[in-house]
Amino acid sequence: MASLSLYRKWRSQTFDELVGQEHVVQTLRNAIVEDRVAHAYLFTGPRGVGKTSVARLLAKAVNCLAADRVARPCGACAMCQEIAEGRAVDVIEMDAASNTSVEDARALISGVMTRPTRGRYRVYIIDEAHMLSTAAFNALLKTLEEPPEHAIFVLATTEVHKVPATILSRCQRFTFTRHGIASTAAHLRRVAASEGLMLEPGAAEAIARAATGSLRDALGVLEQLASFTSGHISVAQVQSLLGMTSAAEVAALIEALLEGDVAAALRAVNSVADQGADLRQFTRDLVERLRSLLLLLAAGDHALADIGDDEREMMAAWVQRADTGRLLHWVKLFSALDYQLRTTPYGQLPLELAVVEALVGQPALPAQPARRSEAAGARAPLSQAAAPVRRAATSLQAAAPVPATPPATPPTPPGEALSPIVAAAPPASPEPAPQAETAPAGSDPGQDLPMPFPTPSSAAPVARSPEAAAAANADFSLLELVEAHWEEIKRDVRPRSPTVQALLHSVRPIDVEGNTVVLLAASPFHKENLEKAQNRRIVEEVMQRHLGVTVALRCTIEARAESRDLRSQIREARKDDLVRAAMNIFEAHIVDIEPPE
Ligand SMILES: [Zn+2]
Repeated sequence: MASLSLYRKWRSQTFDELVGQEHVVQTLRNAIVEDRVAHAYLFTGPRGVGKTSVARLLAKAVNCLAADRVARPCGACAMCQEIAEGRAVDVIEMDAASNTSVEDARALISGVMTRPTRGRYRVYIIDEAHMLSTAAFNALLKTLEEPPEHAIFVLATTEVHKVPATILSRCQRFTFTRHGIASTAAHLRRVAASEGLMLEPGAAEAIARAATGSLRDALGVLEQLASFTSGHISVAQVQSLLGMTSAAEVAALIEALLEGDVAAALRAVNSVADQGADLRQFTRDLVERLRSLLLLLAAGDHALADIGDDEREMMAAWVQRADTGRLLHWVKLFSALDYQLRTTPYGQLPLELAVVEALVGQPALPAQPARRSEAAGARAPLSQAAAPVRRAATSLQAAAPVPATPPATPPTPPGEALSPIVAAAPPASPEPAPQAETAPAGSDPGQDLPMPFPTPSSAAPVARSPEAAAAANADFSLLELVEAHWEEIKRDVRPRSPTVQALLHSVRPIDVEGNTVVLLAASPFHKENLEKAQNRRIVEEVMQRHLGVTVALRCTIEARAESRDLRSQIREARKDDLVRAAMNIFEAHIVDIEPPE
């Protein structure tokens, strides 16, 4: 992987060079200076934040030949260099994700009593330690109970809750945190300067933001940029490489949201769409900023919200005008759009609807009727929004009605598609329907409906909230996707592991909770084996490939009595052919189910 060479080149050789994790480094340095290095460490934290880098630094420090303890690791002596080059026999690195058998653990343990050949200490670095088998953990535990003087274990893990408590209690534990945007950007600027690269103001922050806390990813991006630019890297180049949208567009939308200006908000969306930018990425960027605002507002802590230098001032100004309730609503609303934006045939429509919903569908905002109707009339794609469809006892919420600009391959001409279902349904009721709370009830072009947008006072039922309905719909549409792909998923698991495939024959998908797919297993045996980390991972990876979304897996052995009333009703209603047809035409989902009269 050529893109990692910058990362390798810049991997810290001394504690001074290490970026971030100051609290960890300080404690380890003190231990080295005072010669009280522990025999077992546990490094926890997300990927790409420097756990193995620090483990290597520690291995160097305890074996470094520099006379001055404060200078260890010096990065220059023979021991430091051997370790840096990965040829030190006394530093044993093991990836538990690929070595989980009892044999590997035994091999590891059997070497523990052997004295180091060259250095003072033998250092065992076990990455992804949570993946060790029970037998391996037991063997490790025995060693940790009475570790030989010359042995140091460093366990690194992203999932500390999977490490047995008996092991945890014998380790000195350090929590590694994500790299902040500001510190990642600063590091990028240092590397760029030494490599003779020019970073335009804001470019380092843009890369850092995309890397979401991983220095490794950030340097990978920088390297890619360096390879196809002439050494001068602009914000626009970063954005085009990463499919990011310009921060200015996101800022314009947030500005409009805070103003309560629907027209301006829709203009911002359209401007992004017109540029042909990736709307999912734009929405993610938006959610990221709103989240930062929310954290800033809730905690008032700049570090917590992780804001780059380039945005600090603007965010501070926004925070004055924002309130927690609205931000919470917006974060939920926009973060739920990712899947819709991926699957919709209607371009930016889901985002436009969400923008309108963000401003008109929430109770906290003071009524602004003039602005709303003006916006509704001005924006073409919304003007044809379908009226709420009610068939029998089911209400549908149009998530993405037919757009004015025809999609590349329109399933049916807008007008004709609407008529049969709308005709079959009773006209929109004059009193606010339950779904009106979050759905922009649409209007026909040029025709005034009594209520183009609901008034905030139309309170939603608490127990059967539109949010609950939306969540259930999202869950079930994912479940239906899993069901549709189930045979292929089983087939594709086979090359990875015939055993896992055999296990899958005795389970079936029965539910989805958020991004967790729940499988009903035929017996505790099937459940237990499928839930083993390495088996689960295979299935999750194959599922992800088929579904295009990240999913987690959970097994159950009892088909639970469905206590969530609305959920089960929505699930049943989705099986109705006519309801499905209506949902497909309108890209809609069910918002509520009314008992038959
Ligand atoms: Zn050294």
